[in-house]
Amino acid sequence: MATADVLKPDHRGARKHFIFNEDHDALRESIASFVSRELAPHSEEWEETTFPDWVFQRMGELGFLGLSMPEEYGGQGGDYYCNIVLGEEMTGSNSGGVAMGVAVHTDMATPPVHIFGTEEQKQRYLVPAIAGQKISCLGITEPDAGTDVAGIKTRAVRDDGGDYVINGSKTYITNGHRADFIVLVTKTDPDAGYDGFTLFLVDMDSPGVIREKKLEKLGMHASDTALLAFQDVRVPADAVLGEVGKGFYHIMWELQGERLIGAAGCVAGAQRCFDRTLQYAKERQAFGRSIGHFQVIRHKFAEMATKIEAARQMVYTTAWRFNNGEYPVREISMAKLHASRMAVEVADECIQIHGGAGYMKEYGVERVWRDMRLNRIGAGTDEIMLDVIGRSYGV
Ligand SMILES: Cc1cc2nc3c(=O)[nH]c(=O)nc-3n(C[C@H](O)[C@H](O)[C@H](O)COP(=O)(O)OP(=O)(O)OC[C@H]3O[C@@H](n4cnc5c(N)ncnc54)[C@H](O)[C@@H]3O)c2cc1C
Repeated sequence: MATADVLKPDHRGARKHFIFNEDHDALRESIASFVSRELAPHSEEWEETTFPDWVFQRMGELGFLGLSMPEEYGGQGGDYYCNIVLGEEMTGSNSGGVAMGVAVHTDMATPPVHIFGTEEQKQRYLVPAIAGQKISCLGITEPDAGTDVAGIKTRAVRDDGGDYVINGSKTYITNGHRADFIVLVTKTDPDAGYDGFTLFLVDMDSPGVIREKKLEKLGMHASDTALLAFQDVRVPADAVLGEVGKGFYHIMWELQGERLIGAAGCVAGAQRCFDRTLQYAKERQAFGRSIGHFQVIRHKFAEMATKIEAARQMVYTTAWRFNNGEYPVREISMAKLHASRMAVEVADECIQIHGGAGYMKEYGVERVWRDMRLNRIGAGTDEIMLDVIGRSYGV
């Protein structure tokens, strides 16, 4: 056999995954170009100021806020993989806060309006949200109830005229300061257990909605995080989103998309951190050679690459199930748990490989760690993912 015929490892192969086609590749290219030209240059500044609202307007103009939404509402009519592409490419902004603020809008607050909303609600909220003219947020967590969603205290009480009056508070609400509307989880019947919850679409400029405080955080500094109060907020009966009494089930459905897109962002963010660190390890010299050539560092890269690839396959396969109409709660929980842990481990190891530089803001690796750390808490903690997975086996 001639040497030319010998099979050689294709380390530089494109490694295209079967869930993506050429349309996804083109979409990826156009999002990546927008992100690198219009978002990434501001990443440092937005850590101090939070990112501006024009990001939504611009992304709406470009058609990026409704990639898998129907064309009749201004969406692009694509499949779920388009959302994965967006979630992955947004990590190129070098700003976990921007990626999260946009994901809350595209993959958390607006999907329930699409799935459970009336035609009128879709026209009033979904259409402008997809166009980037209205910004959304999602209100589940409260000062006294986060993981324990069933323990929320925000009450919506129907009065004699048929309106609902809402009282309560929500905390850690992403986009809470800038949002035009909120998908709000309330209790309408405290005695009905899981059947006592109802979702509402509430305009954030309604009398009685108070944006109390901007909360300071470990990471995700470019995003705004709000403590909100609802004091006798009066909404008409047609502000109910979905079915009265079915809000708990509606929000559990929403959480699946939230967890999966978060997992995709973790994989892409970890990959970028890996790539940047690999470059650094090739350049940084110690003891007369680049540090990447020490076996111990090489093995760190091997461990990280293997973990990233395993998480990626998990996310893509789960996305494939999701896109095919399955409701794979166990697999989504596994992907979310595994990808978010993996991303924190990778970011931590990347800091280590950078040495002192990894601890410096200038290199951006410490920020990846701080931003990624949220993923083990938000959208359901590691502990809750483990519980969901464990319970799915009947124990
Ligand atoms: C930056 C940021 C942005 C966020 N954005 C939003 C948003 O936009 N909208 C929104 O609604 N929420 C948002 N959240 C809230 C987030 O989803 C919650 O923080 C999360 O669900 C955990 O709830 P908690 O903080 O109340 O923790 P707690 O529920 O108080 O949990 C504390 C600890 O106890 C553990 N624990 C609790 N119950 C159990 C159990 N049954 N078994 C084992 N362990 C348990 C938890 O795992 C955790 O380790 C955000 C949070 C942050 C930090």
